[in-house]
Amino acid sequence: MSDMHFNEETAQALDAEDRLAGFRSQFFIPGGNTPQYYFCGNSLGLQPKTARAAIDQELEDWATFGVEGHFHAKHPWMPYHSELRELLANCVGAKPVEVVAMNSLTVNLHLLMVSFYRPTPKRNAIIIEQGAFPSDRYAVESQIRFHGYRPEDCLIEVEADPSTGIVSMSALQEALKQHGQRTALLLWPGVQYRTGQAFDLQAVTELGQRHGCRVGFDLAHAAGNLPLQLHDSNADFAAWCSYKYLNAGPGAIAGAFVHERHSTAELPRFNGWWGNRQDIRFQMKPNFESTPGADGWQLSNPPIFAMAPLRASLEIFETAGMAALREKSVRLTAFLETGIAQELSNVLRSVTPVASEQRGCQLSLQVLAGRSQGRSLFDFLSANKVIADWREPDVIRLSPTPLYNRFTDCYHAVRLIKQWAQQHG
Ligand SMILES: *Cc1c(COP(=O)(O)O)cnc(C)c1O
Repeated sequence: MSDMHFNEETAQALDAEDRLAGFRSQFFIPGGNTPQYYFCGNSLGLQPKTARAAIDQELEDWATFGVEGHFHAKHPWMPYHSELRELLANCVGAKPVEVVAMNSLTVNLHLLMVSFYRPTPKRNAIIIEQGAFPSDRYAVESQIRFHGYRPEDCLIEVEADPSTGIVSMSALQEALKQHGQRTALLLWPGVQYRTGQAFDLQAVTELGQRHGCRVGFDLAHAAGNLPLQLHDSNADFAAWCSYKYLNAGPGAIAGAFVHERHSTAELPRFNGWWGNRQDIRFQMKPNFESTPGADGWQLSNPPIFAMAPLRASLEIFETAGMAALREKSVRLTAFLETGIAQELSNVLRSVTPVASEQRGCQLSLQVLAGRSQGRSLFDFLSANKVIADWREPDVIRLSPTPLYNRFTDCYHAVRLIKQWAQQHG
């Protein structure tokens, strides 16, 4: 892409030959008559037009069937979560038995840590990346305290490059060499939320497991963004939310993965009736025999109205295919990056790695003139319908997503930033 001309004609030509371009019309683009240039799929994905019908169907079936909707609804509520299983598994490269749609992300991290963070006096540390998402940090700190240990002793943060926030694999390697012996859990991002850096899940898992650690991933910014091979990664567990790239709506039902090798293991865990074996669940007896696989981590019967838009969204991913989406995504982000390099090299720098294997669709940009100018640019973009987001202390995230963004969106964003730079030059 580096030798391409970044201009409007090129953008239009790329849109014209884009075989996924039709998916854009399956989403509501906010902004009314002058649609927004929406680059915020990393924070809240746009609404699939099929979401409303999916929710309406459940409201209608509730009205029509009452309690019998559990069996007679178009999508019976009893096995509702299992109808999502295959779609979810395809989306993250897992076996169906390894995934479940349930709860929200931080809740799932906690439930999975109950099983996979089992500190002992000799092995009680958790390794995370420096600058981890606050919720993950609060979750691991509180887990450490819950077990009677102290975060000051047990929380290890792998050092990031101070100016970019990028965490090298050699830094992780070093941390494991130094602390691996006393580490119970390595909890790692698939894509780091602030920098957009993507990690090789298999390589990270191998490193952690070589030191005897359990390895889990937070895939909040990876699910629906990168084609994942969760099963092959050999990770112990993973969790993700579904409202970012997965477009399932604000606070959508999250996902969880537990590797097949744990599917019948008697791991310590918090139980609820929906994790009980299906054939005995309704016998209402005191005995609990966990249903095999990730399903066994479920507690409650699922919130159907919240699951419906996830179904609608996953069906779109199934139709488009993660491989095709990724192929476009790589080109879309490279196009945006080319524009920044050609037109804005004296205005912005990207902290996101340049190699496509080390990033998803997001570019994290810093304004060279500093934080307050960064804020000014961000406000200017928002006022002009380019929807990015701001992450403290100084990063503007722009995430062109292959389902609903166009190459001309990227062109427009660069042109607008240039306009701002001319006014502030
Ligand atoms: C978005 C995000 C969250 C949000 O957590 P919720 O439980 O869904 O509110 C947590 N961790 C990471 C890394 C995220 O990117």
